[in-house]
Amino acid sequence: MSNPSPLIAPVPAGAIEHGAVPVTLGSPIPEMEYPRRWTRPVRVGPKTIGGMAPVLVQSMITEDTRNIEACVRQIIQLHEAGCELTRVTAPTLRDADAIGEIRAELQRRGVDAPLVADVHHEGQQIALEVAKYVDKVRINPGLYVFRKKKPGYEYSEDEIVEQQELIEKQLVPLIRVLRERDLALRIGVNHGSLSDRLTVMYGDTPEGMVQSALEFIEICERHDFKNIVISLKASRAAVMIQANRLLVKRMEERGMCYPLHLGVTEAGDGQYARIKSTLGIGTLLAEGIGDTIRVSLAEDPVNEIPVCYEILQGIGLRRTKTEFIACPGCGRTKFDLPTVLNEVRNATGHLKGLNIAVMGCIVNGPGEMADADYGYVGKGEGLISLYRGREVVKNMVPAERGVAELIALLQTDGQWEDPE
Ligand code: SF4
Repeated sequence: MSNPSPLIAPVPAGAIEHGAVPVTLGSPIPEMEYPRRWTRPVRVGPKTIGGMAPVLVQSMITEDTRNIEACVRQIIQLHEAGCELTRVTAPTLRDADAIGEIRAELQRRGVDAPLVADVHHEGQQIALEVAKYVDKVRINPGLYVFRKKKPGYEYSEDEIVEQQELIEKQLVPLIRVLRERDLALRIGVNHGSLSDRLTVMYGDTPEGMVQSALEFIEICERHDFKNIVISLKASRAAVMIQANRLLVKRMEERGMCYPLHLGVTEAGDGQYARIKSTLGIGTLLAEGIGDTIRVSLAEDPVNEIPVCYEILQGIGLRRTKTEFIACPGCGRTKFDLPTVLNEVRNATGHLKGLNIAVMGCIVNGPGEMADADYGYVGKGEGLISLYRGREVVKNMVPAERGVAELIALLQTDGQWEDPE
């Protein structure tokens, strides 16, 4: 039977600090190895990003930060939907104080939802203030020390050094506060808001995004601060994929192993946004890259959480529901496969950790349902068979009793739980 927990093998001694190590994941493909990149564990309140921790699911609220009641309500909705880390924007000092009130209200209601504050334009004072109330602060290097020259301007060596020194000077007070309070920092680079200087030096490219992150990482390291998570986001999945691959390469060259936050930003809404996010996030996760994810939808943020879990389940990193295998059906199918698949899913979808197959015919179905724990397979006109693994356990069952018989089989095997 499948194991419902995300299985991650212990990291070999000596592999903690650097490099990629092979990590064995659990079902759905037993004994398959994915090369999950080892990263430094970063604690964010009660959660951990990186190390051996399961990939963490994040989102961001859309309410006005100063509307305390609405923010608290949305954070609780996200928390109850499975969001493990929630971001709130802090555009001004007043918003930073509002986050303090939000935090206090969540505590008063007994909700232990870790919070990240998002700080943008020249927000050094805001970051210092909001760090009193949150578990993690996100800054955007492209906007941290914001200087914009005329198009075509060439930065001199002295100007580059001067800007880098200014960034360091302004970042150090925040690093000190984060270190003292044992908080985390996300260096959140966006393709659309690279600094003017880096755009001139590297173009609007994945390399520019990587250099932007490295510049900030190196400042943090110079000041002995390593509670860092990095994100390189772009609205195009291909750019985001390239940038993250390149960052991993550059970090490995430098002996760094900071955890990565993955996301396709401004993905939009509906099916296309979900596909784009899945492409970007899923591709990197399949390469072992990524420690926390956010699917950015232009919808109610609660809608982001199931997509995150489906990406993680699809790739075998989290098990939150039954994994279904179903053939597409063809001329050999003698029952209404989409309807039956829905009936089976409705009846058994709440059982975490099982693989259940619905296959159209006895000819190819049993062979193609691979490692399913149970199979519902068309036998002929109006008849189905039920499988436990590769063994037929109920043969020639009238199709109208198929789902009920499957439930009975799961009950007999001790695999059944009543839905909540
Ligand atoms: S399993 Fe059978 S019914 Fe399903 S697609 Fe293959 S041949 Fe067709």
